[in-house]
Amino acid sequence: MSRVLIVGAGLTGSLCACLLRREMQNKVQIVVWDKARGSGGRMSTSRPPDPSSHSADLGAQYITTTPAYAQSHHSFYSELLSSGVLQPLDCLVEGLKQRDGSRDYMTPLGMCSVVKHFLSESGADLFFEHHVTGLYRRGASWEVRRKAGGSETFDAVVLTMPVPQILQLQGDVGHNAPGRGPSLVVHTSVPFGLKHLEEDKEDVQPIILQELHKLLPGLPQPISIKCQKWRYSQVLTSVPDCPGQMTVLDCPPLVCGGDAFSHSNFDGCVESALSMLRVLKASL
Ligand SMILES: Cc1cc2nc3c(=O)[nH]c(=O)nc-3n(C[C@H](O)[C@H](O)[C@H](O)COP(=O)(O)OP(=O)(O)OC[C@H]3O[C@@H](n4cnc5c(N)ncnc54)[C@H](O)[C@@H]3O)c2cc1C
Repeated sequence: MSRVLIVGAGLTGSLCACLLRREMQNKVQIVVWDKARGSGGRMSTSRPPDPSSHSADLGAQYITTTPAYAQSHHSFYSELLSSGVLQPLDCLVEGLKQRDGSRDYMTPLGMCSVVKHFLSESGADLFFEHHVTGLYRRGASWEVRRKAGGSETFDAVVLTMPVPQILQLQGDVGHNAPGRGPSLVVHTSVPFGLKHLEEDKEDVQPIILQELHKLLPGLPQPISIKCQKWRYSQVLTSVPDCPGQMTVLDCPPLVCGGDAFSHSNFDGCVESALSMLRVLKASL
């Protein structure tokens, strides 16, 4: 049985784990490591100290699919709809440019529930606060080192974090619910994000709050405020000539995937997970 490590418990990693389980049932032991304290990645849902009161999606807010993807990814959408994770979004999204035939979906329990659904289907051994710092080739396997110290070996490794974070890795990576109250998420523009990227969140939060107050002067005092800085948010240009994935090494397999190899949305992650599955099935 091959031991496969998937680094990243975001949508791409969790879907890849789920597909591996379904397609290679007894041939793989799937392990997922994420440096964060929970799953979701850029589809994370924040819960305040009292989780029964309200929640907020910090990254992705809703899912839009084109007619072509609605057809080719039909099984994923129908699975999520029938399990109640997704619901059609029937209201108008202010400012959204509606494209012909596109459909919008929302998540009653937060975007993170999409990721959690696939993780639970995968049956993977899931470890949080496992920050990968380096990958080293050891014959036919990979030694994977963690920030907290220690390492483990795997027969194949799948990296699903944003490319700038893949490039920070050391080693041989190859420089070759009910009763919830309302929450309000304020997204800044890309130029604003770039301008303030290196500043402390504590310094930027008041600027955002001041602007918000101008827009919504009657807004009640919030119970809690969380300022989230996405250093790596959405992909502007995908990695060229690597549709869905990049195979860094065939043996032992090292595959990079995620939205950087497709595009930054649900369907982009599905595309990447499917193409990594094809590579792993061929090589394991
Ligand atoms: C502000 C914002 C709004 C968005 N809005 C939408 C939207 O409305 N609709 C939509 O469909 N998409 C939206 N997107 C895009 C969508 O969120 C992403 O395309 C998708 O979540 C990417 O998933 P992923 O699994 O590829 O990567 P990620 O979600 O980034 O997952 C990578 C995981 O790897 C972990 N990780 C990173 N480095 C390490 C390491 N060294 N060791 C261990 N773990 C590591 C991270 O903690 C993370 O959990 C939005 C994104 C942002 C940031």
